[in-house]
Amino acid sequence: MSRVPYLSARLQGFGTTVFAEMSALAVATGAVNLGQGFPDYPGPPEVLDVARAAIGTAADQYPPGTGIPELRAAVADHRARFGGGSYDADTEVLVTAGATEALSGALLALLDTGDEVVLFEPMYDCYAAGIAMAGGVARPVPLRPPDDGEGRWAFDPAELHAAITPRTKILLLNSPHNPTGKVFTADELTLVAAAAIEHDLLVVTDEVYEHLVFGDAVHRSIATLPGMRERTLVVSSAGKTFNVTGWKIGWICGPGALVSAVRTAKQFLTYVNGGPFQPAVAAGLGLPDEYFTRAARDLEYRRDVLVRGLTDAGLPVISPEATYFATVDVRSVQPDGDGLAFCRGLPERAGVVAIPTVVFYDPAHAHLGRHLVRFAFCKGDDVLAEAVRRLRGMT
Ligand code: PMP
Ligand code: GLN
Repeated sequence: MSRVPYLSARLQGFGTTVFAEMSALAVATGAVNLGQGFPDYPGPPEVLDVARAAIGTAADQYPPGTGIPELRAAVADHRARFGGGSYDADTEVLVTAGATEALSGALLALLDTGDEVVLFEPMYDCYAAGIAMAGGVARPVPLRPPDDGEGRWAFDPAELHAAITPRTKILLLNSPHNPTGKVFTADELTLVAAAAIEHDLLVVTDEVYEHLVFGDAVHRSIATLPGMRERTLVVSSAGKTFNVTGWKIGWICGPGALVSAVRTAKQFLTYVNGGPFQPAVAAGLGLPDEYFTRAARDLEYRRDVLVRGLTDAGLPVISPEATYFATVDVRSVQPDGDGLAFCRGLPERAGVVAIPTVVFYDPAHAHLGRHLVRFAFCKGDDVLAEAVRRLRGMT
């Protein structure tokens, strides 16, 4: 691969994100954008109204470095209410610029050059870049898709153990998982936790889709398993739960010493962000249980519409248990089985944009995801209906 001018050695290989490329393609071609995962419907009025009212007040100035006390308390209450464990709002909760800053802050704070991070692949795109920026080394363990659309993505425990070396410092988990829509089961979490304890690893768990879980699937935080709280940092954010992905209000919870280390990095990344949005997210986290249940049911309906549409279009779908995304195996409609080529051609072929799953793999393992494509279903009824109509007419 040719060297990109000016870019540091750490970031060589991380060109423009595919989300930018595919969203630009959607705009240029007038295609329906089922690529980047953002809702096209608004958040709850109880949340939006608080943000509107906060603009023009003292909330426009720098909030405290750890986040406003009201939001930290709301994060702690919300975690306790939904079975995520008990955290002290003053010493064990840090507000961040989205989950992205929580993750990069944790990696920068905890990794020394050459330290290794074990994580499951496909992996959300900011992980590999965040590890590289922190001087670490990613050690991916493959999740393998089910043989038929009804099964579940799974990993081989032997491959997990083989990826752990004396240089491994962090196990980075994402459940519910982007891009597969997998929710790690209690047995899988127990296995991952046992590996972390055996090798004395820190765990960073990204739970941004914690509420967007369907059917019988149940989200559990690995931090709640025995022996895990003391070694785990839990990351989440408001974007998915309240349909406000542009607000970039996130948080990280964990034992005081770990959170304090992350704060040291975070204070020199953004210091603070989103003053008027912080009280609004605090209000959101305090909404009654029904809000969270309804948001999941609503999205489950959208999943069903898209999965049915993709199936009718002759595309074999791996139906997700959670998140915004469904995965399709394109080999039956793309003779060379190349998901990236399929996505580049899809705007012309069907007027729809999707994301090739291959971008979520380390280049060395790209063959594992070459034939897979991710479609987002966090879209309004009309947009989904139009996308489904276009896919059915695909040539
Ligand atoms: N983690 C995962 C798994 C995601 O899918 C995303 C973005 N959608 C993020 C983190 C980033 O979240 P935020 O926008 O709060 O930074
Ligand atoms: N998390 C969203 C996705 O996976 C958006 C990511 C982004 O644009 N950086 O599609």
